[in-house]
Amino acid sequence: MIVRDEQVLTVWTSKCGCDVDDVVWTPDCYEDMGTPICPECGDDMTYSHTDVNLDGDSIDNELKRLTGLTERMLMDMVESSDVESTHILGKAIEVNIFDYVELTIVDGKLTFLDNNGQHYSLYADCDLTDLIDLLN
Ligand SMILES: [Zn+2]
Repeated sequence: MIVRDEQVLTVWTSKCGCDVDDVVWTPDCYEDMGTPICPECGDDMTYSHTDVNLDGDSIDNELKRLTGLTERMLMDMVESSDVESTHILGKAIEVNIFDYVELTIVDGKLTFLDNNGQHYSLYADCDLTDLIDLLN
């Protein structure tokens, strides 16, 4: 039996106590991005177990994987940015989506800021597609 890489799913669970879904990672994700982080607080997550998905890719798992990957990449973008936020102490990337002008990290969480420095959680207005657009 041949098991493709993308059928091997490592499941990661939060150890920080945040009420978040498990993150499902493929070996590729792990190789590229390392340990997944909690979308709430940014802590590393804990390895739980490995699933082998023999019935093809489950959409639900794919979505979780994509969500985790997107958040991780945005986090990396902000952390490696040369731009300092104009509202808080820390790095930011400039965005132009809804009324937001910056994406930054507040208390370990990806946070949008508007012109007045108001904070908005990642999914206050955006969906995953919007977030993926930001990566491009
Ligand atoms: Zn957490």
